[in-house]
Amino acid sequence: MFNSSDIGAINVQLESDNDDEPPGSAVEVPLDDYHERSNLIIPSKRISPLISNTSKQLKSKSNTFRKTFYPGITNKEWNDWHWQVKNCITRPEHLKRFLTLTAEEDAYFARSMSELPLKITPYYMSLLCGLPFDHSLRKTVVPTIHEWFKSPCEENDPLNEDSQSPVHGLVHRYPDRVLLLVLDFCATYCRYCTRSRVVGKGSIHPKKSRLEMAIDYIRNTPAIRDVLLSGGDPLLLSDDRLEWILKQLRDIPHVEIIRIGTKVPSVLPQRITPKLVRMLKKYHPLWMSLHFVHPEECTDVSLKACKLLAEAGIPLGSQTVLLKGVNDSVETMKSLMHKLMQMRVRPYYLYQCDLVSGTSHFRTSVQQGMDIIRGLRGHTSGYAIPNYVIDAPGGGGKIPVMPNYIVEHEKDGLTLSNYANKRFYYPGSLDEVPGLEPTMEVHCV
Ligand code: SF4
Repeated sequence: MFNSSDIGAINVQLESDNDDEPPGSAVEVPLDDYHERSNLIIPSKRISPLISNTSKQLKSKSNTFRKTFYPGITNKEWNDWHWQVKNCITRPEHLKRFLTLTAEEDAYFARSMSELPLKITPYYMSLLCGLPFDHSLRKTVVPTIHEWFKSPCEENDPLNEDSQSPVHGLVHRYPDRVLLLVLDFCATYCRYCTRSRVVGKGSIHPKKSRLEMAIDYIRNTPAIRDVLLSGGDPLLLSDDRLEWILKQLRDIPHVEIIRIGTKVPSVLPQRITPKLVRMLKKYHPLWMSLHFVHPEECTDVSLKACKLLAEAGIPLGSQTVLLKGVNDSVETMKSLMHKLMQMRVRPYYLYQCDLVSGTSHFRTSVQQGMDIIRGLRGHTSGYAIPNYVIDAPGGGGKIPVMPNYIVEHEKDGLTLSNYANKRFYYPGSLDEVPGLEPTMEVHCV
């Protein structure tokens, strides 16, 4: 068994959560004062220009925020991920120090909390503090009464993960890969989280006995060639704890690749330290999927974190959830994808928002998702276009959803529509190879 001292990061978090006092270093500040001092309120519909154009402004905003709300805190402390985790905003009274709550936000706290706790890193708060009430970043992390509404098609476990778990915290859905939930807490809780039934609850603990059972299952199942570590956020483990897991997996001959799914580079980029990446690079091939939902998450600090990971040879892909009022326009999505590309992160998945209880206010139509993909394809580099997928309710796995570019399908050919909506004829039907006589043998190479 791991003893409690093995779990550096976890201990820090639990201490913080158990503390009846608000974060010790934050001070009461009249919000109007802060808004006046920072003078950096960004209109809600504005899309940030490229990273380099905003970096000075964001740095200045971050400094003003820190000096205003955490005047005794040095740069070094602010950039220490342990300090960030220990000082996460977890209570409504903490939140009210930074934001004037709307009626819908305030009412949420008047009743008992929903399934998903509140948690926001001071760093992420520095990005959204001073922004309008309806700003995208705020919607993703500040709860409202809309979470109380459960629409008929929503479920607590919409992907049926629990029934596809041969071992607690290990989801085996596809034959050749598994999802290992190493822990159940994150640096910041996203209000649309697919695992809101478990995150922050303490039911998926990173204790050695549970992880050993999951690793034994992987070791005894030779078909598994790909292991995705997720949670919760695996990068909230201490370096030593995470290395123990990576080493166990790397020692299994049939595990070809290991992937880590994390939101740390967008909400706690300070966690990506040179020491961490030196450890990670020992376990190649190691891939990472980074969760970003809005271009304003792509700050200089995130850029630095991604650079460290990329220079350690870790291929980086992005995962974005399509969210109403957050990123559901071609303009916002394109800006996000372009910024990710600049951070050396290849856009990978755009998810239709899962049918999780209490998330209907975030869900767009599937048509909107397809329209966004149509608005990207041909209008930007192919590398900047993620795969738009629906994770099938009930655990059917990811299903790609594409706009239809075939306008007409006839016996002898297809009429196709290009990105500019111009029509082109392509000879050959869907089941014949053009230019070949039907009797010719076709060799696939
Ligand atoms: S980081 Fe991932 S697991 Fe954590 S709350 Fe957000 S979506 Fe859920």
